[in-house]
Amino acid sequence: MSRVDDKVALVTGGGSGIGAATARILAGEGARVMLADIDDKAAADAAAAIGDNAASSRLDVTKQDDWDRVAAETLDAFGGWHVLVNCAGILRRGSIEGTSLEEWYQVIDVNLTGTWRGCRLAVAHMRENGGGSIVNLSSVSGIVGDADLCAYDSSKGGVRLLTKSIALYCAENNLGIRCNSVHPGVIETPMVHNYIAESDDPVREREIWDGYMPVDFQGTADDVGMLILYLSSDESRLVNGAEMVIDGGTTAG
Ligand code: NAP
Repeated sequence: MSRVDDKVALVTGGGSGIGAATARILAGEGARVMLADIDDKAAADAAAAIGDNAASSRLDVTKQDDWDRVAAETLDAFGGWHVLVNCAGILRRGSIEGTSLEEWYQVIDVNLTGTWRGCRLAVAHMRENGGGSIVNLSSVSGIVGDADLCAYDSSKGGVRLLTKSIALYCAENNLGIRCNSVHPGVIETPMVHNYIAESDDPVREREIWDGYMPVDFQGTADDVGMLILYLSSDESRLVNGAEMVIDGGTTAG
């Protein structure tokens, strides 16, 4: 018996980085997986690499119609929906003085409201269909602040407490749904590579990111995917409302 072979998982941001790795790892442990991403070609390529246990769809997490369609497609393709992994996200540089209102709304809309939309839909479905597990990607930036990540930190702090609110609601109402947040440190993905490449001094920025975690290696998307596998499986049945830090000790001090 594989670890999640009775599960159907919907993974947002499934075309890249942590989402793509998570989808592959879940499928490797028996799950059937819908990879949803605003980059539908990337999601389709990642699903094709997994094989018959995967499908893909275009999802802009800021659009309710997209969410409704992708949830229906997941049920049509696989006959159930037990796991939601909210990986879709954007990272934008900007301090309190360097962030426009437009940039603020963009980051909050994708990272926080997009996650809320998915959670709301998942709870409505899972409560009537035997429960499930929701995993939300926050960040160490949802626990500690960065001067230059005003909107991103705020969105990820919001995801952290959104998760706890959902976890308590579902437990108090015996819905059989768990909800946990994951807080990575530095993980080598296109998000990080692009952020560094777009900085004024990419060499210096690379040094800063390399020195961010106290361990002497960088995290991989698979490191995070393995934690999400645990949270998706019934092995973690007592884990609810937890903030699972995966940061090489960054926030331990
Ligand atoms: P990634 O490689 O950039 O993957 C994120 C995916 O989400 C991309 O395919 C992106 O598409 C997609 N996306 C962006 N906006 C979307 C939208 N409106 N609707 C649907 N999909 C959308 O990033 P990652 O590093 O794997 O990050 C995954 C999650 O982990 C994010 O929530 C991130 O904040 C969080 N996280 C990452 C790190 C890290 O060090 N990598 C650390 C802490 C937390 P485009 O490429 O077209 O934008």
